[in-house]
Amino acid sequence: MDVITASKKLADLLEASTQAVVFTGAGISTESGIPDFRSPTGLWKNNMPIDFRDFVSSPQARQEAWRRKFALEEKFLNAKPTRGHMAVAALIDAGIASRIITQNIDNLHQASGVDTAKIIELHGNGTYAACLDCGKRHELAWIGEIFKKTERPPDCTACAGILKAATISFGQAMPELQMKHAEAASLACDLFVVLGSSLVVYPAAAFPVVAKRSGAKLVIINREETELDPIADLVIHEDIGEIMHPLCDFGWDTRS
Ligand code: NAD
Ligand code: ZN
Repeated sequence: MDVITASKKLADLLEASTQAVVFTGAGISTESGIPDFRSPTGLWKNNMPIDFRDFVSSPQARQEAWRRKFALEEKFLNAKPTRGHMAVAALIDAGIASRIITQNIDNLHQASGVDTAKIIELHGNGTYAACLDCGKRHELAWIGEIFKKTERPPDCTACAGILKAATISFGQAMPELQMKHAEAASLACDLFVVLGSSLVVYPAAAFPVVAKRSGAKLVIINREETELDPIADLVIHEDIGEIMHPLCDFGWDTRS
């Protein structure tokens, strides 16, 4: 299937749907310069993730986690929403898609202009930090200044607790409210579109299955195969930007 045909098939499914949900993974952001995890150039090639329990129990693990965070910070700060993000924003704007469920922590859906109430962040947000004890928000720039001087992250200014990027690490509890919202959106939709997720990180990867089981059509767009390809109604092994970009100019009938 060529790119134009694939894009048209997706547009037809979106137009026929009454409530679509978009589910995004790191692949929607690679065009912006933020590497994903599992592609050949992905972050896992060099760094195994640091488990939450190690982060909490070991100052060395915390130092390494923050070192990695700041090593990548320039990429995150310079990243702009991709063609995929802009197309998803257009779908939300037209009322074709009701919610974005994202595994990403890069804030690029918000940067594309989508109302935060429509974005369900399963793995938190990496553009700020939070205290693990009292929950107070802390800005990365301040932590970065101290880390640069001392090679150690500061403690929480309110309670001296441990500061961590406001993301969900392996071994850390999933955010309850976001999980509930994601489940409700998956059950309510009639079309579930997965963009750039390897669909191996659970429980996030269960939502396409939840949607499919409750009767929604499933679309998977990824340049590689995924384990859920066999249950999908449409699988497109192409670049997300190439497929999604034409949807920006589709002239959707805006729904209320
Ligand atoms: P992943 O790295 O496991 O998978 C990304 C998938 O996207 C791969 O299957 C790859 O083939 C595909 N892909 C990459 N670029 C593509 C493109 N341009 N077009 C089509 N397909 C493309 O990512 P994941 O499934 O999201 O899981 C990784 C976890 O790591 C996430 O849960 C997230 O929390 C975190 N993470 C987030 C970011 C981010 O916020 N941008 C980046 C890396 C990792
Ligand atoms: Zn605190």
